[in-house]
Formats: sequence, C-alpha cells, structure tokens
Amino acid sequence: MNNKMKIIPVFVPHVGCPNDCVFCNQKKITGVGDVLVNSGYVTDIIEECRKTIKADTLVQLAFFGGSFTAIDSGLQEELLRVGKYYKDLGVVQSIRCSTRPDAINNDILKLQKKYGMDIIELGIQSLDDEVLKLSNRGHTKTDSENASRLIKEHGFALGHQVMPGLPGSTIQKDIDTCRLSISMKPDMVRIYPTLIIKDTDLIQMYNEGRYHPLTLTEAVEICAYMCSMYSLNGIKVIRMGLQNTATVNDDEDVVAGPFHPAFGQLVEERIYLASVISMLKGIDLREKNITVVSDKRLVSSIVGQKKSNINELKERFSIKNISFQDSCDENIIEIFHEQHKLGSFNKYEIYNNYLQFKRGEQCI
Ligand code: SF4
Repeated sequence: MNNKMKIIPVFVPHVGCPNDCVFCNQKKITGVGDVLVNSGYVTDIIEECRKTIKADTLVQLAFFGGSFTAIDSGLQEELLRVGKYYKDLGVVQSIRCSTRPDAINNDILKLQKKYGMDIIELGIQSLDDEVLKLSNRGHTKTDSENASRLIKEHGFALGHQVMPGLPGSTIQKDIDTCRLSISMKPDMVRIYPTLIIKDTDLIQMYNEGRYHPLTLTEAVEICAYMCSMYSLNGIKVIRMGLQNTATVNDDEDVVAGPFHPAFGQLVEERIYLASVISMLKGIDLREKNITVVSDKRLVSSIVGQKKSNINELKERFSIKNISFQDSCDENIIEIFHEQHKLGSFNKYEIYNNYLQFKRGEQCI
C-alpha cells in the first residue's frame, strides 16, 4: 500500500454559512466561483480525481470551505450519501469536513457518524471572546470548547484551525489560544495567519487604520511558537499558511498581511535556526570554520531562504565559514569545529530547543 494520502477536495463555498466573518471571502479562498453544490457536484469531483489515483493509494474525501455541518440537513445528507457510497465501495478510506463550532450538536454528529465521517475540523480561530467579537465570528470560546468535547465524545478525530493576528488579538492572546486549544486535545491543527483578502470587511478596517496585520516576520515567529507547542504535545500541525492558489497570492486577492507561498517552510527554517543558536550559545566561535553534518533533506531548513539562517549564524557568532556534510543518520544534526564536536540534536528536539531559545530571548 502506498502510504501517501491522496486528498479529494470538495469545496462547499459559503453554502450553509450563516455568518460573515470580517476576514472571509469564502469563494475566493476556496478558489472556486459560484457552483451548484449537490450530489452531482460531489460525484463529478470524485470521478475526475479517480482517474489520476493509483490503485493502492489511500484516499480521503474532504469537504472544505463553508461550514459543512451548517448546511441544510437535506442537502448535507445528499452530499454525505455520496461520500458514504464511495467509502463503502472502497474508493475512499476516510472522510473529513470543516465547520463552525456553533454548528455542532448531538444530532449533527449522529448524522455525520451515520454517513461515515471520520474527521471534523473546527474553525475555532481564536479562543478570546473579544477577538471573536471583533472578527464577527458569531460564536464564543465556550462554543469551541463544547463542540470540541462533543466531537471527541462521539469518537471523531478532532481538528482545530486557528488564526493568529485577528483584529484585537495580541501575541499573548494567540499563545493563550494555542494553550487552550492544546487543552482540548485536538488530533491535528492548521494555523492560518490572518490575511487581508479583497472584498472583505477587514480591508475596510485596514484602510481606516483600525486593523494592522502581522508582518511576515511576526507571523513566522508566532507560528513557530505555536507549531512547537502543538508538536511537543503530540498534536500534528498539518498546515501553516494559506495555500497559494490562482487567486490567493500576492498579485491577486491578498491585499496585505503575512502571505508567503512557502510559509510553512519559513516557519520550519525559523525553528531550525533557533535550535542551532540554542545549541551554540555560549561557545566562542569567532573566526572559526564550522561544519554541519545532517541529512541532505534538512539542509535547506538549516540554511534558510537566500541563506538567511547561515548569514544570521555567521553574524551572531562571528563564524568565518559554515559548510555542510551529508550524514547517514537522517534524524541527527551534528555541528563540528574541525574534529571537535560542538553539539548535536535530533530533529524531534527542535521544538523544545526553539521554546528554550525564545525563553532565553524573552521575546515571548
Ligand atoms: S464561518 Fe467560515 S465560511 Fe462562514 S463567514 Fe466565517 S470564515 Fe467564512
């Protein structure tokens, strides 16, 4: 069996969503325009994707966008029935959906169970009621707590989506959201730093000076912190930053905010940099040549985009030169000065190292 999961994404743009969050232009975010969402729509997408899926691949059907469980129950059942049909056939192995915390109750969850839903992702976004209010989310922190508990009680895998940098938020509030989210024990999380998208209320707030987005550097730092916290608590971070689509990119609909097409990679690089700094701290490296021994797949994360990490390390420690050597151990990163080993860490320790680094810097 090919272990790489193939996702069949079914976007349900704004169908069933009772709300108008200040940052949301759902049709743009999902990358589709006006579509008629019904069983034929879902069937067509699955059939089209099937043509490209190899026989032994694990397949997941994902109802993204909108607020799936807030869709009219008749239409919801129609869509779910298609999913179950293909799951029973063995074409898909699992089904997931994303939804709002106030669109979860016992009856809704029983319906999802009946049709083979496996994973429910909640857009909790923030767990600060003031931030939720300013973002016009239309639900509270308590809704997120109750929904998370119910989803787990009904035996689904729970996902959280969080958005650092919402109106009224601060770094501390984003970290508190992360801590509270961890206490609800989600199985996975997506972190989407807030962007200002065309045709949203947020753009007006921005133009009137009532909203200031995170800079890219701030967003990377807060996401590195959150990613480290979640990872250390055994919670899988499955995405950081919005996907680059035909419309969600710098030139099209993103007006301002910390957008980067490889945002997740930037966060990983930041974590590796902090990890190396943490390890080298206190060692006199002035005018020395050092060698990093690591698996070649980790080199780009250690080097950073445009060698930013290398440049920062050289400047911070006055290092003369940093070179790389391939390692036969894919998990260990070792650093040498000539034959003398300065230290090492394994790739699972990077999150702890990052948090230690931040404590040392007293930035967060
Ligand atoms: S709940 Fe989701 S789909 Fe609805 S307006 Fe807010 S972000 Fe958009």
